[in-house]
Amino acid sequence: MTLPWRRPADSPMETTGGGDSELSLIPRWAILLAIVVFAATQYLFHEVLPHGRHEMLPMRIIMGYSSGTAFASYVLLVGYVSRDVRRRKMSAGLWMLLVILMPGGIGAVVYFLLRQPVLSRCPNCTTELAADFHFCPQCQFQMAPACGQCFRSVQITDVYCVQCGHDLAQDQTPARLRAYRD
Ligand SMILES: [Zn+2]
Ligand SMILES: [Zn+2]
Repeated sequence: MTLPWRRPADSPMETTGGGDSELSLIPRWAILLAIVVFAATQYLFHEVLPHGRHEMLPMRIIMGYSSGTAFASYVLLVGYVSRDVRRRKMSAGLWMLLVILMPGGIGAVVYFLLRQPVLSRCPNCTTELAADFHFCPQCQFQMAPACGQCFRSVQITDVYCVQCGHDLAQDQTPARLRAYRD
């Protein structure tokens, strides 16, 4: 299972997000609550639940440990979503409710499938930009290297556009390099 905070490698402008790791999004209350939940689960398994004579101690330790880990992870996940939902400008109340109430983490799966991309800001005029914008809609600041002819995105190292074959060196102050000038 891949970790939910691991983003696909193709999301381009991650560097403008401030460089914080995704894990640092998890708020402190969620970490503390996760520890409490884990400890409470251990207590439940070893002290509260009746111990059958046939039941073996190693089995009980494993059960307690795995359930505790699952519950604690769930708390961390809810904590992560509570922060993540805000920086994506999505409805926090609705999504928190969904993630908490849908059984077996289904709400979280739905959340990770449907969540909006993180908005970044134009370095020039601070307009909010979606991750796939090549240019700022307000000031035309170039966010990603683009072909000077078809304006689709290209790699900074490309010599020809992979979409239209345009010779990228012909672009005056090559359009693909404008964002990286000075
Ligand atoms: Zn701008
Ligand atoms: Zn092109």
